[in-house]
Order: sequence, then C-alpha cells, then structure tokens
Amino acid sequence: MTTPFPTATITGYPRIGARREQKRALEAYWAGRIDAADFTRSVHTLRIDTYRRLAQLGLGEDYAIPATYSHYDHVLDTALAVGLIPAATEDGTDADSASSLEDYFALARGTAQCPPLEMTKWFDTNYHYLVPELAESTTFTAHPKQLLSLVAEAKAAGHLVRPVLVGPVTLLALTKPAPGATTLPLDRLDEFTDVYRDILTALGDAGVDWVQLDEPALVADIPGVPDARLAEAARRSYATLATAVVRPQLFVTTPYGSLDNGLPALAESGIDALGVDLSAATRRIDPDYPRRLAATVPTSVRLVAGVVDGRNVWADDLVSSLNVLTGLGRESVSVSTSTSLLHVPYTVSQETSLPVDVASWLSFAEEKVTEIEALAAALTCGPEARLEAFNRADRVRRTRASSTRVHNAEVAARTAAEASNDGFRTDAATRIAAQESLGIPDLPTTTIGSFPQTAEVRRARADHRSGRLDAAAYEQAMRAEIDRVIGLQEELGLDIFVHGEPERNDMVQYFAEHLDGFTTTEHGWVQSYGSRCTRPPILFGDVSRPEPITVGWSDFAASRTSRPVKGMLTGPVTILAWSFVRDDVDLRVSADQIGLALADEVADLEAAGIGIIQVDEPALRELLPLRSRARAEYLDWSVRAFRLVSAHVSPQTQIHTHLCYSEFGEIIEAIDALDADVTSIEAARSRMEVLDDIDGFGFARGIGPGIYDIHSPRVPSVEELRELIEAALEHVPAHRLWINPDCGLKTRDYPEVRASLANLVAARQEVLESA
Ligand code: GLN
Ligand code: ZN
Repeated sequence: MTTPFPTATITGYPRIGARREQKRALEAYWAGRIDAADFTRSVHTLRIDTYRRLAQLGLGEDYAIPATYSHYDHVLDTALAVGLIPAATEDGTDADSASSLEDYFALARGTAQCPPLEMTKWFDTNYHYLVPELAESTTFTAHPKQLLSLVAEAKAAGHLVRPVLVGPVTLLALTKPAPGATTLPLDRLDEFTDVYRDILTALGDAGVDWVQLDEPALVADIPGVPDARLAEAARRSYATLATAVVRPQLFVTTPYGSLDNGLPALAESGIDALGVDLSAATRRIDPDYPRRLAATVPTSVRLVAGVVDGRNVWADDLVSSLNVLTGLGRESVSVSTSTSLLHVPYTVSQETSLPVDVASWLSFAEEKVTEIEALAAALTCGPEARLEAFNRADRVRRTRASSTRVHNAEVAARTAAEASNDGFRTDAATRIAAQESLGIPDLPTTTIGSFPQTAEVRRARADHRSGRLDAAAYEQAMRAEIDRVIGLQEELGLDIFVHGEPERNDMVQYFAEHLDGFTTTEHGWVQSYGSRCTRPPILFGDVSRPEPITVGWSDFAASRTSRPVKGMLTGPVTILAWSFVRDDVDLRVSADQIGLALADEVADLEAAGIGIIQVDEPALRELLPLRSRARAEYLDWSVRAFRLVSAHVSPQTQIHTHLCYSEFGEIIEAIDALDADVTSIEAARSRMEVLDDIDGFGFARGIGPGIYDIHSPRVPSVEELRELIEAALEHVPAHRLWINPDCGLKTRDYPEVRASLANLVAARQEVLESA
C-alpha cells in the first residue's frame, strides 16, 4: 500500500521564522549567549509550529508538507548527507550535539584556522548557497541520520512530512572540483547515485513514502555542460534510483523555468511524480510548456503543477491557474508552487503600513498556501467550492488593471517618447577632451561610495524613522557625519571624494522609498544566506521621481571641500534585481521607467554643479537569464536602461559605474556598452585576473580594479597594494587607471578603513614617484 501524492502541496517554505526567530537563535548561539541545547530547542519549536500552521492553512494531507528546514543552507545539508563533503563528526554522534553543530557552522562560516566554503547565488534568485568542493580522494557515503530525525520529530508531533534533498544531478553540477582535481564532479554521477540509493533505502526502511529531490539545474544552462548531457545524466541517475527495492516514491522538482531536454528524460526515467514550474512568469517565456507537459509526461507519473508563483509576491489569478490545470488534460494533477517559498516573506497580515490597495494585491507564503488549497479544491469540486477565494482573486485582477496608482499616463507617455532613444552620449573622444577640465591626476584615488555606518548613524536613522528625531535634527546628524567623512578624505589625501551615504539603510531600499511606484514592507524579510535577511521593496506601478533624492546631500558635501565630490546613485537594473517586480508588464518597461526617473536626478545633480556621477550596477550580471539563448536580449534592454540615466548629460560630466564581481568574461561587451567613462570593479581577491579579460577586449575607458578587499577586516600593506597597482599598470596606462577599494566601506570599521585608505594613497604615491 503506497500513499498517493497529496493534491495540494508546496515545494519549500521559509525557514527563518515569521519573526526571524531562527536568525535570533543562530546569532545568539554564535555569540555564546545560548548553548547548543537551547538553540536546538528553539529551532525544534519553530519547525513544529511551522508544520502545524501549514496543516491549518490547508496542507493537511500526508506528505503535503516538505521538511525544508536548514540550520544554514540546504545545499550544505544534502552535501553532508551524501558524503560529498566528508563530515568531521562520526555518524554515531547526535546531530544536535554541540560538536556536530560546531563542525557544521565551521563549514558555513569558517574558523580561525579554516576559511568557510565559497558562497554564490542559487540560480537566478537572491538566495546564496555554499559551494561544495569535491576532492578526487573523496568517497561518497550515506549519512541519512539528519533526514531521519526531521521525519521522526515531525511524526511525533503528528505530521507525515516529506524529506527533501538537492537532486544528484544538480548537486554535482553546482559542485566545483577541489584545487588540483582533474575530473569533473559530474563524471562521478554513477557512484554518487548509489549513495542516494542508500539514503532512499534508509528512508524507505523508516516507513517514509515520499521523498522530494530538487533538480533546478535541468532548467538552466550550466557552463561547460550541454543541456543534452545534463538531461542524459538525469535519465541515468533516476533510472537507477527508481530500481531501488525498498524506497519511498520519488518526487522530482524542476523550479526556476521550463524543462527542455530534461522533460522527456525525467518523464521516462521511472520517477513517480514530477514537479514543474507553471507560474505565469514561466508561461510567458515559454507559452508552449503546458502543451509539451501534457504530451510528454505519461499518466503513470503524477504531474505536480507549480502554478502559484513561489518567488514573487502577487496574488494568484486563480481563474487562469485553474485553466492551466484543467488544460493539462489529465484526470488528476496536484497543485503546487513553481519554486520553494523560500524567496518570499511569511505573511501579508503582519504588515500595517502598506497602502491598503497594494496590500490587497499581495500574497506572501501563507497566502500562497491558501491559494493552493483553493485551487486543489476547485479542481475537484469546481470554483464554487472556494467562491470567496475566486471572487477575491478576480477583484484583485480588476482593481490592479485599472488602478491609477499602478498606471501613470505621464510616465507611459514619457517612456513611449524615449522608445527610440538608445541612450548614447557624445563620442568618447569628445568626452575625454571635455573632461580635461575636471583636472583629474594620473592614478586618481577614490572610494566606491559608502563609509562605515557607525552605531550613531544607524541610531539617527532609526530614531528619525520612528519619529523620535525630527527632520531638522536628523538632517543635522547626517550633515555632521558627511562633514566627518569629507574631513577624513581631506586628511587621507584622496583625489575624488564621496559624501559617504550615511542616509542610506540599503542602496536599493533607499531609492525605492523615494520613487513613486514602489512600496516597502515592515516585516517582509527573506533569507539571503545563513542568518542574513533582506527586505526587498515591492515595485507595483509606473515609476517616477516626485522630487530630488540625493541632491541635497551631495550638494552639502561639495560645499565642504574644494575637491570634486562624486554623486552616487543605484542603477535601474540593480534596483529591479533586488526588488519584487511587477508581473503585469515586462521587466524592460520598468527598467526604462527607473532609468528615466534617475535621469531626472542626474540632471539635478549636474545643475547643482556635481561634475562626476556614479551609477552603481552591482547586480547587472545577477539578472542574466538561466538560458543562454535569452541573454543577448536581456543585456540589450538592461544596458539601454542604464544608458538612459545619463543620456542627456553634458560631455564634461564624468559618469562612473561600479560592478561587484571580477569575472567580467561573459558580459564584458555589455560592460563596454554601458558607455560609462570610468568603471570600478571587484578585483583584489582575484589578483587583477580581471584585467586579462579587459586586454582581450580593448576596453578603452577609465577603469578602477579594486585593490583593497573590503570583504575582509585585514589592512593591506603599502607593499602589496603597490604590487597590485604595478600589476594593473601592465594592462592599463596611468591616466586611465583608477585606484580604489573593491566595493563600499559600509560594513567595515573606521580604524581599519582609515589605515587601509592611508596605505592605498601611500602606495599610489610610491608608484607615481618611481615612474
Ligand atoms: N555605492 C555603494 C556603496 O559604496 C555600492 C555598493 C555595492 O556595490 N554593493 O555602498
Ligand atoms: Zn560593490
């Protein structure tokens, strides 16, 4: 007797707690304020409360709830479970013991002796996972203990939950070979699959009837691995797993896009249920996907249709979702989310200051579970079964479509009028000549924008927000800070100054708070990595700038020094990448609107006499589509939106941009097309490797490869900074080479920043003198 797959489910849930209970427990444990037993108890309570809540919301069937809790990262958890990362602790040891927790967090966060695992973005989301490294000597072994204990703990509380692992193909595709290893991790798929089989057997022996394996790699283009090769790997691996004698039924999910070669491969591999991303967003990109699914997936495989968007915050259009579900043409399908709900906040009901109409259009994790329950009920009994939910969804659709808060005719007219503007300024030679008047020396020194955010600065912002500090006193506090930052830059002898950004809590949220078309939440936290959470703004409508945003601060800073002060803006692509975006217009429409709103800011900065303006785009590469065939189009509109910001500035005004990564490679042409006069980029950790890319391309603009790694508290010595400058001079002449840190200084402390910048200026001086 096997349990049928539940009719309503989700593929993952946030783990931080509705009030960030997990974050607090983690940080208290790391700081030694609570011990392992207290920590374990509080996250146990969090898990059980979550199961109970989910069951109440409609996931009451057996195996409807996935056990997606993790202390830090689910990729690390699976890597440990299959022995991809050898566990330091014996399997006999209790996984909740202090020493097991220490070992676990050592991998995630590093220790004095040992650096943590590298961290990188999970597909095209803002979640970051730990990248496993595979040494050739590693032999895989199964460690199912942690999975079994999650199952047992839930069972004791009355819930049959579904254990979840990252699937073998995805896990190996994301693993990097250890230094010196010559084989690709994916070449070891067969041995790896055998360990998954051992895990399945252990779960089967424990009476588990369904297990979930996540295979997002099958919807992405993984560098160096053709789609057909990945699909073939999936076919082989799952065919093996399906033949395990005692095993739970296999539910394989494929979030973040539509399957291509992976679809027939999985459909025929012998798995029991297939989870697919059928969100409206994915259907817009691949309208044929529902038809392909209907035609390809045999009825012996349960189709688990992820119609409810797991990664955006809009209430589902239940009628269209129901149509998609019935259009799949089979007697029974299950209703689910397109992706894990990890990417959205807990519940709209906690928000007290959202505009009421906008609030009624949103669904966070809890509301999405309710939608899934309604769809599953409607699928069997018709929409009448959940009339209230369907009526609400219809009201949302109609009010959003006609809301003047969403649709601004002026913005639409302006965007249309700029439709043929390619955003290019005058040619580079004219600009270079015109910018002579700025009097910029060789090897100019500058910083990326923010200076350390002291406790006083943060307190002043918080007090202002809560009303304890009035506008005048707040302005006074910020001006005093700007004054200090200007004074410090004078003292250090930097060439181009910044105001230090003390007024910004976050480089995206700050602009979202000052642009029409955006709103922000109070409790809308989502996990970025470990205990780190962000609160993405919500873009709900046409974007415009009601009044100048940064001009007052920049203007004040400029009045305090005779040195040039750089104006500082966040670019349109980064604002989009770190917000929840509209689902009723293309991303490129919003990008153009933000670009034009920022162009107003640039015009005002220029009019105020700010001659150098930096437009940061650290997220340009983050929005790159998972499929390479979609990339050219993305780069085309994103680059244009960036150029719109400065399309109308005079040739004398110098435009800078800043990007936060060192592997230029794939997007170097796009970076060149940004047409910024100066580009600063992260390079210290890769020791200027970035400049090899630039050589190959003939990048002819100003470039500032960061020489001081701000991600570490270490103060770099004059000597090593000088070596980096000399290495860079091998590639770039002194009049085009800028000397700056890797990124903003916001997260550092003043003593180390002061010492590091002093060394940076000294190193530059030595290089100039020895030339
Ligand atoms: N100007 C921003 C800062 O210095 C840039 C931050 C970033 O690149 N992430 O903080
Ligand atoms: Zn940066």
